[in-house]
Amino acid sequence: MNSPSHLAVLGATGSVGKSTLDVARLHPDRIRTVALAGWRNTDRLLAISREFSPAGVCVAEEKATLFRSQVLGAGLNCRVLSGPTGLIELVQSEQVDTVVAGIAGAAGLSSTLAAVQAGKRVLIANKEPLVMCGELLRAEARAAKAVILPVDSEHNAVFQCLPEAHQTNLSRGDLGAVPTSDQSPISRITLTASGGPFIRTPAPDLKSVTIKEALAHPNWQMGPKITVDSATLMNKGLELIEACVFFDLPESQIDVVIHPQSVIHSLVHYVDGSVLAQMASPDMRIPLAHALAFPGRIRSGAPTLNLIEVSRLDFEEPDVARFPCLRLAREAARIGKGMPAVLNAANEVAVEAFLSGRLRFVDIPVLVEAVMERSDCPVINGLDDALGVDQNARHLAVEALKMRSVR
Ligand code: MG
Repeated sequence: MNSPSHLAVLGATGSVGKSTLDVARLHPDRIRTVALAGWRNTDRLLAISREFSPAGVCVAEEKATLFRSQVLGAGLNCRVLSGPTGLIELVQSEQVDTVVAGIAGAAGLSSTLAAVQAGKRVLIANKEPLVMCGELLRAEARAAKAVILPVDSEHNAVFQCLPEAHQTNLSRGDLGAVPTSDQSPISRITLTASGGPFIRTPAPDLKSVTIKEALAHPNWQMGPKITVDSATLMNKGLELIEACVFFDLPESQIDVVIHPQSVIHSLVHYVDGSVLAQMASPDMRIPLAHALAFPGRIRSGAPTLNLIEVSRLDFEEPDVARFPCLRLAREAARIGKGMPAVLNAANEVAVEAFLSGRLRFVDIPVLVEAVMERSDCPVINGLDDALGVDQNARHLAVEALKMRSVR
């Protein structure tokens, strides 16, 4: 990285945003934070705006008036944008060359796609854009000469273990230049999963899981949606789909293993029997620093991995009977077309219902499966198709919740 990068951080007040700013803080000469997008946490957004003096900040529409007056009061010289159109304007800005896409859920889709279409270097930390319309995103990256880099720790790990030529081609969305499966040196990918807080919980006890228990992740500090997804293993399911799309492999060539220590973040198996793994402390600053500096390396501020302290690495088969979300995600990956988007939307509704006490933990996969069974899934050719499939699936999920037909 010779000239400094000019960064827009979407989801700046969330966990990915916090880790990104931690890395940026270490490298003021190489990383200039020129745009920030938060949503409702305007106090935090104001604090980081004071620190980084961005040229533009985007907030939720209902917070725009309040935030403008806070910005004025603080004597900051930054443009305040709002809502989904504000987000798009922010990423399209000529001042921005690198976008960290860290907005959770389908809400992050339009801005991520807009960043790719504007030819930016896009660090994808949210799963939904690749799950909902990965092929479209790749095609747009090729057309706009954008660079897409995975920041989800597992995908970043796989990416780091790939040959350099693969890395370059994949980051440009150029699958034509990636060898087909019979010529590829890569035979399989293994994604690791911590297993979440209920890895040892017997099936009958999962029925009475509380919100607090589901939000207590053993290894990672993350937002509530992804933490619940980690507890149901849907997070790994979404990551499986994400890996199929990003690395252009069928789900049959991607394994998931439970690895409770979260030290190996994923592995690539080569045809000669070699297996390359990426290891690191479970800390999002590491994949973010990798993607920010790629193809170089910079300090992340994360602690060095101490193998003696780690002492042992365990692996086991995931139990899809207790955690059916993983099975459902494989099915969605196999079906393809709009089914991954259906799975994602139904899951978002189900997790929200769980977090507000309207759905039991064990009924999250029941609701998702019910919606998948009731959905026909058209091919996704554009953003409107993706959003249409998303809306239909949400509608079906809300109806299923109302009818309590999932019980
Ligand atoms: Mg992950």
